[in-house]
Amino acid sequence: MPDGAEGGGLGFDFVADHRPSWETEDVAMFRAAARRFLQAEFEPHVERWTQAGIIDRSAWAAAGQAGFLCPSIPEEYGGGGGTVAHHIAWIEELERITLGSAFGDAVHSGICAHYLAEYGTESQKRAWLPKMARGEVICAIAMTEPGTGSDLQSVATKAILDGEDLVINGQKTFITNGQNADLVILVAKTDPKARSKGVSLVLVEATRQGFKRGRNLEKVGLHAGDTSELFFEDVRVPASSIVGEEPGQGFYQLMRQLPQERLLIAAGAVGSMETGIALTLDYVKQRKAFGQAIFDFQNTKHKLAEAATEARVARVFVDDCVEKLLAGELNATLASMAKYWASDKQNEVLDLCVQLHGGYGYMAEYPIARMWTDARVQKIYGGTNEIMKELIARSL
Ligand SMILES: Cc1cc2nc3c(=O)[nH]c(=O)nc-3n(C[C@H](O)[C@H](O)[C@H](O)COP(=O)(O)OP(=O)(O)OC[C@H]3O[C@@H](n4cnc5c(N)ncnc54)[C@H](O)[C@@H]3O)c2cc1C
Repeated sequence: MPDGAEGGGLGFDFVADHRPSWETEDVAMFRAAARRFLQAEFEPHVERWTQAGIIDRSAWAAAGQAGFLCPSIPEEYGGGGGTVAHHIAWIEELERITLGSAFGDAVHSGICAHYLAEYGTESQKRAWLPKMARGEVICAIAMTEPGTGSDLQSVATKAILDGEDLVINGQKTFITNGQNADLVILVAKTDPKARSKGVSLVLVEATRQGFKRGRNLEKVGLHAGDTSELFFEDVRVPASSIVGEEPGQGFYQLMRQLPQERLLIAAGAVGSMETGIALTLDYVKQRKAFGQAIFDFQNTKHKLAEAATEARVARVFVDDCVEKLLAGELNATLASMAKYWASDKQNEVLDLCVQLHGGYGYMAEYPIARMWTDARVQKIYGGTNEIMKELIARSL
């Protein structure tokens, strides 16, 4: 493990204890640099961002300038030129400072940038990816609508050809980075009569007339991340704004990228479990009751032994999925298993961590309380865990 990647403030370090199979020397150096950057530039602001309900734009720019945004996008488009392993190391380090997915970079770098890199035209890639990698442009993906989430083929937002333009009307909700976004990748029907074949991904700049942001939604967790409704009223964009310029490809493009997106959620869940357990170990070893450390009660040791085992099992499974993704072999079934199982386990483990903190675990000022409320949505977004089981069952 390179300098700076050891310990880093937590008493027990799962990553140092069990180096992920996909962590090459280059990824380990990237992780060490990310840890130093996050401890210096992000960690001191987590509480303030949590209060504000949004992360400063300057933090995005700082992360971009330091080379941590779009790590798995080719260098020729301004990215880091690494692989998804670099991005997963970054996600784990974000979990380590207990910010996790409240920094909506899994959406920005892990999802949006990849839609552009995989399916965008050359000019779309050159127009957006370098700015996204520098953190000058923040990107959101807008699929969910008030009337439909899981059933994506039923989106009602329309982008209809009118001369040289598409005219967009509709509404989206629960959109990560919604307040900060400069660019929205919009899921819309370019052919409202067709189901999946009528769906396209459309690039919409936040400066377009007729585009409006709703309020920053009040959530029960992930307080530092902005989440919004977005409104589109006769928004005109050039017809060339369709990602890849060919209409009707959106559903196919979404389906191709979903395994990677789901794996990023699973990786965040593993990082969150490991951090939660490490924080709890620190706490129960110093907190005393009945004349002994809380850790010394057999119940505490056994529960934490179970949690550490579950976190390790989750890591080994997710690591195997990462290896498969790197080899181009991760299928929808495995990605769904990883997303559902790891996020379920994350919620169970963090609930235990709160319990072992006693009343302090329920106080918002304690990171474990924030991690516990932040974890709940992991079972909902990125495709609910019920939908994951539907997808798994199809393969049985
Ligand atoms: C904090 C946060 C951030 C988000 N970020 C984004 C974002 O950036 N972009 C974006 O587009 N969306 C985002 N979402 C939306 C999220 O992806 C959806 O909430 C999710 O897909 C579920 O859709 P829904 O809320 O409409 O629930 P519904 O689809 O209405 O589901 C309600 C319940 O019914 C169950 N259900 C539905 N269909 C089935 C079925 N076939 N079988 C069994 N059970 C079923 C679901 O599992 C769920 O339990 C975000 C949500 C949150 C809370």
